[in-house]
Order: sequence, then C-alpha cells, then structure tokens
Amino acid sequence: MKPRYNCLTCPGYCCSHSRIAVSDYDIARLAKHFKLSVEEAKRRFTYRYQTKEVDEQILRHQRDHVYKSICRFFDTDERRCTVYEARPNVCRRYPYGNQCGYYDFLKFERAHQDDEDFIPSA
Ligand code: SF4
Ligand code: SF4
Repeated sequence: MKPRYNCLTCPGYCCSHSRIAVSDYDIARLAKHFKLSVEEAKRRFTYRYQTKEVDEQILRHQRDHVYKSICRFFDTDERRCTVYEARPNVCRRYPYGNQCGYYDFLKFERAHQDDEDFIPSA
C-alpha cells in the first residue's frame, strides 16, 4: 500500500522517541557500516535500559533544537537519518503501516495555522 505520509516534509519526530530499542543484529549491522567491532559499536551507539519490566539496548541520543533530544544518528540540520542503509529494524518498520499519526497531526496543524513549516510540539 502506498504510504500516506511524507518523511521529507517532517522534522523527524519518530527519531526523537526516547527508547529506540535495537537488537544484536542491528548493532552488528551498524558495526559493519562503521567498520567497528560489535562491542565498540554497542558501547558507542547504545546503552542498556533496564527496569523491572524492561531490559533493552537503546540508541543514544544527542541534543536537538526541535525536539530537545533525538537519535545520535540524526542530522539535526538536514533533518534526516545519517545511517539510512544501516538503520535498525524498528526504524525500517515504523510507522507500521501506510499511515503515520504524527504526520496526520503535522498536516492538520500546518493547514490550520496556514504555515507549511509549522512544527507543533508533540
Ligand atoms: S514521524 Fe512519520 S512522517 Fe515523520 S519522519 Fe517519522 S515516519 Fe516519517
Ligand atoms: S537510526 Fe536513523 S531512522 Fe533510526 S532513529 Fe536514528 S536517525 Fe532515526
């Protein structure tokens, strides 16, 4: 089904999610992309997030002028992923269908504000 969203006009909201969990396979792919050992890639790019219910390896973040914090692989000026070919599976699958809730919200707000560059706080 054809996507009903356009990531090129979105400032990358999904990349600002605080917990972007990666698998060993994702880390190995990033390691290969950067020509690093798996251990080094894991240390540099991820950290362990652990609660009573959850035990995940999460992508590290960086500061962002739009969403305050965003994935370390995001180009905060160009608003795009810098590791697109090596991005984790969860990024490949998102938004899990042909619609993106944030994009619908963005489109609605931009039409409402009559400003095609408007960025609502999520
Ligand atoms: S939030 Fe939706 S429209 Fe925006 S970059 Fe992510 S998938 Fe694309
Ligand atoms: S790896 Fe790329 S697509 Fe995935 S969250 Fe980071 S910047 Fe976004």
